Amino acid sequence: MTIRFRCPSCQGTNQAKGSEASRQTACPHCGTAVSLDVSDSLLQTGVVERCALCREDKLYVQRDFNRNLGLAIVAVAGIVSFWLYGRDQVVWSFGVLFGAVVVDFLLYWTLPSMTICYVCQAEYRKTAKNPAHEAYELALAEKYEQIGKALRSQGKLGRQQEESSR
Ligand SMILES: [Zn+2]
Ligand SMILES: [Zn+2]
Repeated sequence: MTIRFRCPSCQGTNQAKGSEASRQTACPHCGTAVSLDVSDSLLQTGVVERCALCREDKLYVQRDFNRNLGLAIVAVAGIVSFWLYGRDQVVWSFGVLFGAVVVDFLLYWTLPSMTICYVCQAEYRKTAKNPAHEAYELALAEKYEQIGKALRSQGKLGRQQEESSR
């Protein structure tokens, strides 16, 4: 399990891994102490139940797909296809384009998924599937973003909190 999150203080990218995701880490960019609350469920079974940074359970899942890579494959195929077309290799020209689409499609469906926090945008990779989590929804994102903003402005993000009710 890997957690990637933005430092609440300087917005720099931080990464924490598995059991190394200790409760207290320091941001490598600005040195701010960030407290992660990694739940037992996350440590033992890899199922994300709530976010370690903001402690909220507003999470969604998506494929860990690099959009730029996907576009690059299609762009290169387009150039090759155009070149072949100019040489009267029409069948190959279309074949290359079709091949690129198939590769993109396969890449998309074979890539692992990752879990992302609506509230603070922390990303969880190499986790187990939590059936309660669904795909991104814009309406929810807008709603939960407000919680994140409030936490941020109150300086509560990544801070040790009094023991919550659970
Ligand atoms: Zn920082
Ligand atoms: Zn979060």
